[in-house]
Amino acid sequence: MKLLKNLWAKEAPANTVPRPFCHCLDPQYEEEKWTELQIHQEEQDTGSAGWQRINELIEQAAADGRREFSPGPEMKPEEWAQVTELPKSISTLKRVKHLILYGSSLVRIPPEIGEMTALKQFSPYTSYRLHWFPYEITRCKKLKDSTISTRALYGNYKDRAPFPRLPQDHPCVPQRCSVCEGSFGDTQPIQYWISLRIATDVVPLLVHACSRECIANLPKPPENYVQSPHQGGLGLGQPKADR
Ligand SMILES: [Zn+2]
Ligand SMILES: [Zn+2]
Repeated sequence: MKLLKNLWAKEAPANTVPRPFCHCLDPQYEEEKWTELQIHQEEQDTGSAGWQRINELIEQAAADGRREFSPGPEMKPEEWAQVTELPKSISTLKRVKHLILYGSSLVRIPPEIGEMTALKQFSPYTSYRLHWFPYEITRCKKLKDSTISTRALYGNYKDRAPFPRLPQDHPCVPQRCSVCEGSFGDTQPIQYWISLRIATDVVPLLVHACSRECIANLPKPPENYVQSPHQGGLGLGQPKADR
């Protein structure tokens, strides 16, 4: 926490409004005992000015075919702080190569990011409430560069923050299987975590699968991470922290 506060104080320009912080991963700074974590449940306030503005910005960016999309600087700071979830319409940003989300208050990225097929560079740096990404981001086949605050991630190699125990409800469940894109039909998606290299960083991905077969078809995680898909919880054995 101290580190996060210091970082923020250093980077915050004088005219910045306070943005929401969370304490999920504080024990790594305080050397406290971990307790079971919960996936962020915050619902996006769809009545807020920030939500309206980000939807407009996406519409504009889709229409003008821009290659770089960085909504933060185009919004009032208080509006940017109201955006906790990106709209699903990011799927329309077919020409965007670089998605910049510096200093966001996001708590989740929707699975529709997988439809941003031109994406090469992903920069959610200093978005301290983003602890995981949807598995669908692996569909961005051109993605090769990322700038992520890795200490904010579940299972980060520095501190091995725990993963929330699955299954957990959260407001951004995909409509189709994360792995085979098949429909869930009447069955509940099966949730698993897996750590995989996304561009420059190894990140925790949340999978919503239609079947055990789809879980079995997931790729093998890189060395030094839990070697198979798992359902988190404090009892999970992770490789040693590399402080
Ligand atoms: Zn959090
Ligand atoms: Zn499937």
